[in-house]
Amino acid sequence: MSTLTPELVELAARKAAKMDEEDRMDAELIKTAFELGLMGVTVPEKYGGLGKSFKKLCMLIEELGKVNAGFAVSVAAHHMAANAINLNGSGGLKEKWLPQFCKKLAAFATTEPKAGSDLKSIELEARDEGDCYVLNGNKTLITNGELAEVFVVLARCDNGFSLFVVERGEGMKVRKLNAGGMRGSGLVSIRFNDVEVPKEDSIPNGLKAVMNTLNVSRPVFSAIGLGIAERCLDLAIKYAKERKAFGKRISEFQGIQWMLAEVAADIEALRLMVYSTAESCDPVRSAMCKLIAAKTAKKAADVAIEIFGGHGTLRGAAVERAYRDAKILDIGEGTSEIMKLIIARGLLKD
Ligand SMILES: Cc1cc2nc3c(=O)[nH]c(=O)nc-3n(C[C@H](O)[C@H](O)[C@H](O)COP(=O)(O)OP(=O)(O)OC[C@H]3O[C@@H](n4cnc5c(N)ncnc54)[C@H](O)[C@@H]3O)c2cc1C
Repeated sequence: MSTLTPELVELAARKAAKMDEEDRMDAELIKTAFELGLMGVTVPEKYGGLGKSFKKLCMLIEELGKVNAGFAVSVAAHHMAANAINLNGSGGLKEKWLPQFCKKLAAFATTEPKAGSDLKSIELEARDEGDCYVLNGNKTLITNGELAEVFVVLARCDNGFSLFVVERGEGMKVRKLNAGGMRGSGLVSIRFNDVEVPKEDSIPNGLKAVMNTLNVSRPVFSAIGLGIAERCLDLAIKYAKERKAFGKRISEFQGIQWMLAEVAADIEALRLMVYSTAESCDPVRSAMCKLIAAKTAKKAADVAIEIFGGHGTLRGAAVERAYRDAKILDIGEGTSEIMKLIIARGLLKD
């Protein structure tokens, strides 16, 4: 994968500061990712994708996470929407939509203003109108929503929950949100007003489909944390070797060395975990992986700022951005508390 990505990684690196400053998605970056085939990494070849493994997707996301976490989460969220179809959709749905997902930006929408962790409480309703469903309600905190052309949406139906593939259209009122971290990933809220969706564009048993999708996407999301942590360590080492205090380079102080050593060891453990979890996608291991990714990324960013001193706290400093980006690992794709619930449920199962 790494031979495929330098062009995209370099472009993403060049755009990172501006995307963070303006909190706007970058259309050129997204177009380049599609042109390189990197928006269909796990989509089977017969549907126009690269047909690669989740592990390969993690490698791409790790590289992007190092330079531009906002863009990395966009690519990850797009694949989450595609994976939802590929893992749970009928043959007909895959044939209709997966080739489209290799050309059009997608978003995956479950969270609502009144329900995030507790998805059984979502209110967005899909009304059965015979040959179609009609969607009414709200979604919020949706990555890619600023420019996405297709949305995979969780809704409540008469007989439970379903996922719906919805093309951006007139009945959707999209409002840009001002993100705190991973900026430039097009975070929005959406109001659905009588949006008609053909029956064939739905996946029944929606909650199960969301869980299947999260099990594979959590190691991918964790790879962003891995990238953030690696970048923080690189920056901290470089700075510690240059900066002098009390007549010495600060890298000569044991206090600094120990901080670097701990972060390096945590990163090594996380890397092994991300890549082994991406191979199994076991639900409990995926939850463990995301929990550890959040801790590792936050600690690496915290240590990097500590080593940079006051300069690291300035708005626009790479380590300050990393600090805001790292916190998102605790929240996106299920909070750290929910990860612990999943792990505990696995431990206590009879
Ligand atoms: C940058 C960003 C991007 C996102 N992108 C997307 C996206 O593309 N699509 C999408 O659908 N959503 C997205 N989200 C939303 C995200 O998935 C939710 O924020 C998350 O699932 C938590 O839901 P909530 O914010 O409603 O918090 P709540 O569920 O209201 O939780 C609030 C607090 O209560 C805690 N809590 C809740 N239940 C329990 C419990 N049983 N035990 C212990 N503690 C509990 C939580 O851990 C948290 O600390 C994104 C969020 C962010 C920040």
